[in-house]
Amino acid sequence: MKARGLLIVLSGPSGVGKGTVRKAIFDNYTNEFDYSVSMTTRPKREGEVEAVDYFFRKKEEFEQLIEEGGLLEYAEYVGNYYGTPLEYVNETLDKGRDVFLEIEVQGALKVREKMPEGIFVFLSPPNLEELKNRIVNRGTDSDEMIEKRMKKAVEELKLIQYYDYVVENDTVDNAARKIRNIIESEHLKVTRNLKEFTEIIEELE
Ligand code: 5GP
Repeated sequence: MKARGLLIVLSGPSGVGKGTVRKAIFDNYTNEFDYSVSMTTRPKREGEVEAVDYFFRKKEEFEQLIEEGGLLEYAEYVGNYYGTPLEYVNETLDKGRDVFLEIEVQGALKVREKMPEGIFVFLSPPNLEELKNRIVNRGTDSDEMIEKRMKKAVEELKLIQYYDYVVENDTVDNAARKIRNIIESEHLKVTRNLKEFTEIIEELE
């Protein structure tokens, strides 16, 4: 029997560029893992395609699916629902294929609780130093919005403790390459290959 696939979760603070990095991973490479298309209640943006970018659904349909337990996780983000359809994730993992999620941090924490065996990658902003300066100097900053955003950024950065890997989004290509390397390395772990070796050893003995 084929081993269950790995669940890979790409997440991180808002505005860090998760979507762009995810697109680079899926547009520029042939992958051994499949993207789980999320469901959302937000309106379709120009150029977006149903079932490719998202499953665009009405609020009532989304809430119905929540009630039925059809979502692995969901979150409300800037007034809209976003969620991960559970069936696709389970079916794909059962086939032995890896599943890749790109979701915001609240959703990622919920997935961590339900599927702690997943691989959680935190995409971090490239200019931490600049971020720090802005936070430290915020007392002199008159712009209330900047302060709010900074507070949110700090809260989101604190969540890094729940992740397995951190990847700085310095350039999209670098970040995409590092994430692919993480997935490859995870497959090479002895713990993931021990069963196969044990079987061979037993046969040979
Ligand atoms: P956007 O509206 O820009 O496509 O996405 C907004 C945010 O929702 C992004 O941070 C994106 O990562 C997140 N997101 C997309 N799909 C999901 C999902 O299925 N679950 C959760 N929790 N967040 C999602």
